[in-house]
Amino acid sequence: MRSMVGVLGRVPLFKLSRRTGWPRLLPANLTISPSPKCNSRCLTCNIWMKRENELTIDEWDRVLASLGHAPYWVTISGGEPLMYPHVVELAQAVYARCRPGIINIPTNAILPTIPDRVERIARACPDTRLIVNLSLDGIGEKHDRIRGVPGNFEKFEERLRQLLALRARLPNLTVGIHSVVSVFSVEHLDELIAYAARSGADQFITEIAEPRVELDTVGLPITPSPEAYARAVDRLVAFVEASSFRGMARVTEAFRVEYYKLVRRILQEQDQVIDCYAGWASAQIYADGTVWPCCVRADDLGNLREHGYDFGRIWFGPRMAEVRRSIAARECHCPLANAAYTNMLHDVPTLARVVAKLLRPTGGRSAPSSRPGGGLVEIGRPAPGAASSAGPAARMGG
Ligand code: SF4
Repeated sequence: MRSMVGVLGRVPLFKLSRRTGWPRLLPANLTISPSPKCNSRCLTCNIWMKRENELTIDEWDRVLASLGHAPYWVTISGGEPLMYPHVVELAQAVYARCRPGIINIPTNAILPTIPDRVERIARACPDTRLIVNLSLDGIGEKHDRIRGVPGNFEKFEERLRQLLALRARLPNLTVGIHSVVSVFSVEHLDELIAYAARSGADQFITEIAEPRVELDTVGLPITPSPEAYARAVDRLVAFVEASSFRGMARVTEAFRVEYYKLVRRILQEQDQVIDCYAGWASAQIYADGTVWPCCVRADDLGNLREHGYDFGRIWFGPRMAEVRRSIAARECHCPLANAAYTNMLHDVPTLARVVAKLLRPTGGRSAPSSRPGGGLVEIGRPAPGAASSAGPAARMGG
């Protein structure tokens, strides 16, 4: 399995590239969204309304071939990615062409075909860590109301049980719970933390709801106030810091705490706070082949169909220069988790705080030990347990 070491080795090069334009590097963190179609109707997202002239699998294969082994972390996003009919073939193409260390797939956990698709992807990508994060925005009826699908919570619990059972047979599979912290969920975050802690999941990650061009949520009042988010962050940080993690899990938790604190500052200061590397180290390809620096700005950098499916022709092309200038000038800011973790890897003060924390003796209650493999989101695996049973604490984070 590819380790993080190669990615860390590229950090100084990305910093140099952001400052001087040289060397020319393809992104290490890539998000691909093959289809906007989704069977959820979330209060925090309108992407399900979109329809696109989607790239075919053959077209995706050509695009991925042009990226080679540059991406270390590939997220297959949506819409609902596990509803996309060719998701297994797409993951196989990612694996064959890019051989990433991590393939990350979020899911709304609704369809009964999800476990079968996850198993096929995990088996087809044996040397890559496959992380599947199930969305959970509330317990019971609260979840159904926020996600707009009656019975969604029941299906979530069923899928979680099924995926945890699969995890016992598939050593490269990680199963997490993902919560969007929005105005609709911020006040019941404690319930989500408590649920995730006894769920048996490998990780609990949170992301703040924000206006995104991709999700057609610009102008919607979905982001919690800085004060409400600060209270939520305090609870998450307190939980993580009261836990005792070992090995790689300690590293990822240290980054997670930094992420919470970073988001709090971004909301309060309305600024990037640390340099954003979207447009250098991270990128997104939308369903129709349009390349974006990130899904929040969603600048149209060019369509791969018009550039011979060669990602580099767009990434190093003329439209990038103005977008990079704008991002470097901090004309945008956001708490997007996917970009933020990449950004933190490039921020020396953040890294210094993480190292200082790792050098401190551990304390607090014990948490699961880390699993082999390494990686920013590599996590400790609790002993197998049912989704709603009182099993050992899952790792908390966001
Ligand atoms: S700060 Fe946010 S909106 Fe701006 S480029 Fe980075 S990820 Fe995109």
